Amino acid sequence: MRTFDASPVPSTPSVADRPGVHRKKLKLTKSFAAMGLPPSILAAVRAAGYETPTAIQTSLVPLAIKGHDLVGQAQTGSGKTASFALPILAQLQGDWAAVQDNARSQKLPRALIMVPTRELATQVAAEINKLGQGQKVRCIAVYGGVNIRTQQRQLQEGCQVVVATPGRVLDLHSRDSIDLSRLEVVVLDEADRMLDIGFRPAIERILRKCPPERQTLMLSATVPEEILRLAQLYMRQPKLICLPKSEQDNRTIDQYYFSVEGENKYDLLVAVLEREQPPQSIVFCRTKLGTERLFRRLEKARVYDGLATLHGDMSQAARERVMQRFRAGEIRLLIATDVVGRGIDVSTVSHIINFDVPSLAEDYVHRVGRTGRMGREGVAYTFVSRDQGSDLTAIEYQINQLLKRDHIPGISIEPHERTIESEAEAAENEAATPTPSRYRRW
Ligand code: AMP
Repeated sequence: MRTFDASPVPSTPSVADRPGVHRKKLKLTKSFAAMGLPPSILAAVRAAGYETPTAIQTSLVPLAIKGHDLVGQAQTGSGKTASFALPILAQLQGDWAAVQDNARSQKLPRALIMVPTRELATQVAAEINKLGQGQKVRCIAVYGGVNIRTQQRQLQEGCQVVVATPGRVLDLHSRDSIDLSRLEVVVLDEADRMLDIGFRPAIERILRKCPPERQTLMLSATVPEEILRLAQLYMRQPKLICLPKSEQDNRTIDQYYFSVEGENKYDLLVAVLEREQPPQSIVFCRTKLGTERLFRRLEKARVYDGLATLHGDMSQAARERVMQRFRAGEIRLLIATDVVGRGIDVSTVSHIINFDVPSLAEDYVHRVGRTGRMGREGVAYTFVSRDQGSDLTAIEYQINQLLKRDHIPGISIEPHERTIESEAEAAENEAATPTPSRYRRW
């Protein structure tokens, strides 16, 4: 078994307090130029409009370029994709002796990035192709739910980077269509999500098929024990990069909740849309059926232009069409399940409305991460019914922050209808370090 080595910054108590975990202060590189990236990559970074590296890029890129195995705690919207894409591109520019032995091996993938969803696969591949511009890098996305033959053909034509969902990698491997023997870098993106949705066995099978001397990078919004165990098993002396809370989140998102009776949620949604006139928003529901129902009702009522829905019962082609129109700004209100809750990068989303509280508090972070991207302002509203006080508390624990209460008279529940905190507690409520559970008395 490989040993677990270092933890630079103590922001996650369960991780930093681990016996034997070595803490050290990170020396941060504040510009892309100082990171040791080749000139062609620096040119692509400039062309992408990135002027200053984000916190995760600053800490991860230099160590990854040196070849370390790393576990980086980073959420979507933090610039995490570039944090692993740039070292991979630098590696592809480097000495290619290992793969120059014959023409066939030059076509084999040298980097594999595993992601939890098809949408994220497409998006990560697009970012790599953007940052790889002018460098003769071919990156393809492979995922389930679409015809495998096109992907087999693309792999046969050759590519240096594959972004993939784990199930499809195994499928392609069982058909001898993907060769993992030349991989130099393997990335697990949104590792916590992949474990949540049951990809662990697939990931482990894939990692066992990859060359043992490869570099492994893992990105995860949270770093629970399960992630650390995976790192211990499959990474070589991994260093853990936990950014201080202040640096993890460079977004400005105002977060509110409404207390509302279940049967008034639709009216509340219409009232919020009316009041806010959001330029572009996503409304999250828990189930596919609920999503479809809400979409139909809004469509029938003609409340809002540019309306669409996105959920797992739609064909891959239909989902892609919706995402394309959403990115292009033609769709302004998207009713969706958590299918789009993770990873999707549409920087113009101004409002997130949690019509249903997410079933996992962690999903709240990912839903809300769809807005306020790269320092833009965003706002998130969560509709909470009387029996969901504990769900709200769980969310507040997750984000270590209290949501502010909003109210629309005549629709949401009047604030005084709930047993709220005393004056003294309310003052504390405003204070810097919240302890959410104390304020939730329903
Ligand atoms: P990610 O967290 O990887 O999903 O990235 C979120 C968004 O930030 C994407 O649109 C990236 O293209 C963009 N981005 C990544 N790094 C930077 C940077 N250093 N400066 C500006 N934008 C960035």
